[in-house]
Amino acid sequence: MNAVIPIQPALPGCADAPVLRERGQREVFCGLTGIIWLHRKIQDAFFLVVGSRTCAHLIQSAAGVMIFAEPRFATAIIDERDLAGLADCNDELDRVVTRLLARRPEIKLLFLVGSCPSEVIKLDLSRAAQRLSGRFLPDVRVLNYSGSGIETTFTQGEDACLASMVPSLPPAKAEAAPALMVVGALADVVEDQFTRLFQAMGLGPVAFFPPRQADRLPAVGPNTRFLLAQPFLADTAAALEARGAERLVAPFPLGVEGTTAWLQAAANAFGISESLFQAAIGPARERATAALSRQRTQLAGKQIFFFPDSQLEIPLARFLSRELGMVLTEVGTPYLHRQHMAPELALLPAGTLLSEGQHVENQLDRCRAARPDIVVCGLGLANPLEAEGMTTKWAIELVFTPIHGYEQAADLAELFCRPLLRRQRINPVPAPLTLGDTLAASAAGG
Ligand code: SF4
Repeated sequence: MNAVIPIQPALPGCADAPVLRERGQREVFCGLTGIIWLHRKIQDAFFLVVGSRTCAHLIQSAAGVMIFAEPRFATAIIDERDLAGLADCNDELDRVVTRLLARRPEIKLLFLVGSCPSEVIKLDLSRAAQRLSGRFLPDVRVLNYSGSGIETTFTQGEDACLASMVPSLPPAKAEAAPALMVVGALADVVEDQFTRLFQAMGLGPVAFFPPRQADRLPAVGPNTRFLLAQPFLADTAAALEARGAERLVAPFPLGVEGTTAWLQAAANAFGISESLFQAAIGPARERATAALSRQRTQLAGKQIFFFPDSQLEIPLARFLSRELGMVLTEVGTPYLHRQHMAPELALLPAGTLLSEGQHVENQLDRCRAARPDIVVCGLGLANPLEAEGMTTKWAIELVFTPIHGYEQAADLAELFCRPLLRRQRINPVPAPLTLGDTLAASAAGG
């Protein structure tokens, strides 16, 4: 039987550790990026960005969609207008939406996604969404949220999207038994794995939010207990709490330890016995622990530096340090939600340098001074750092890839091994000279 990694706080952890707060130039994508994974998740939703040509380019190139495909996102380009032109803008938006919905009857949920150009900020998209919902309900619900780059970072796009859906969730019946909701977009395959684990514990039915179909919105109310699957859902969690739901306190389901503690929080809240819980998770946990052993040999002792980007940094740092033995030189996060991160911070090794926000020049200086083995950063920083001889991992890849749960733990670790192996192949460490080499070199006059 494989060793099971015990869940113990790293004493004294970073629960009350000081945080270096920085403000300055930031290097992150905007919230429109979330459309790329959200449109895959909610299969009958359409995302209409109200923005500029830049927004259209970002979405088109990030999603890599061919023009003859029928994507479920598009950009309504708003050119420069004065305030008097805004009435026309609203008419134009209504015309675009009417045409779109006539042509695409499969769309059941339409998001008007705001962006940061000043012409768009002047438009009241929430009124437009209400107006259009009034016209197209019950066939199509129209909601709005902002994907603007003025927000902290790109994962906030998902938070804003989910928070905009919360008022549409049906109320749970007061007499209904407590029910579990998992909050945060997960790959379908991961959702299915979690569903099977909850079923094995005798816990269910479990709702996932966002749902795969717009008409399967989960009910919410005081008997809802929810687990956050993603660490960047502060507004969504607040909106659910305002509807009476209770957040279950847990680390995030990354790695064996995080997944176990996350599932345990649900088991405890629903009175599942310890023996049933252990029997349900045992095989998957043991498989995942065994699968991590190869990557542990490659990653143990390697230094890692996180630039703030996805808000996944703290749970990832916890996983990499505790389960793979990596050394954390700096863990930057765009925004630190102390409450949601409390269980994660308690598990980080004491003395970890935590930073919040970004002053990119200062942080680059710290990174260069530390010369870590691997740097996790956005695309904009990766190439220059690679050119300086550093090994990088694109933070955005960690959001696009299924990384949650037991079955994905080794894949997640592998994402950090690959860049190190690639660097090794480019700059192979010279093999130590053998006696034969030395003799051959001296015979050749070397
Ligand atoms: S929302 Fe703002 S930051 Fe994002 S692509 Fe559009 S203009 Fe650029």
